[in-house]
Amino acid sequence: MKKHNINCMICGEELIYSTENRELECIYCGGIYKSNTSCKSGHYVCDICHSKDGIDTIYDYCLKTNKDNPVEMAIELMKSNNINMHGPEHHFLVPAVLLTSYYNVSGQKDIKAKKLRIARERAKKIPGGMCGNYGSCGAGIGAGLFISIISEATPLTRESWGSANKMTGRALTKIGEIGGPRCCKRTTFIAIREASKFVDENFGIKLYEYDKYKIICEFKKFNKQCIGVECPFYKPSV
Ligand SMILES: [Zn+2]
Ligand SMILES: [Zn+2]
Repeated sequence: MKKHNINCMICGEELIYSTENRELECIYCGGIYKSNTSCKSGHYVCDICHSKDGIDTIYDYCLKTNKDNPVEMAIELMKSNNINMHGPEHHFLVPAVLLTSYYNVSGQKDIKAKKLRIARERAKKIPGGMCGNYGSCGAGIGAGLFISIISEATPLTRESWGSANKMTGRALTKIGEIGGPRCCKRTTFIAIREASKFVDENFGIKLYEYDKYKIICEFKKFNKQCIGVECPFYKPSV
């Protein structure tokens, strides 16, 4: 099921078609284009971004954004038609928004691109269906992948090796406590929140106010297996 074919992908408002072209900034790649179509709030997605695959959408968006909050980034990306309701692109989405937040917050934007490329290569090797088939949700692994990259862990390091494995374990424990069936939105939100706590506790960097910020899922209408009130991010009115 496609998201918002008639209305704005970002806010769901009706699209407005004006008679003249205006300069509009694409929400995903940051490019400036002349177009006569946007919503009332000026949200605009360029033609190139409309037809990209999910991985490129995530990479390009993370590269250009100056945002701090990884949950806001994840939700904005999830609204793109290029990101499926469920799918292995979430295995890259989790480390990508966490790395972006980490390097934006810590003022190291110069190395963000390099780190995102490493995450993209590694995340490609995490197949879909890992959650049920191997007992290792790919979003949870994405949190460990994030810690591995920021701490420069390798199979031979000591502390960073430990941190990366602890991170994956913590994310998977939280994901497992709720149970299935799979929902790439729910597990992504849990992985991001657990990783943000972990980075605060172990690296002294606060990516967002994870103890106050309430995550609300806007995707239940696309998910046939939504567990409803059993999900911590479910809100009936959304
Ligand atoms: Zn809009
Ligand atoms: Zn674009």
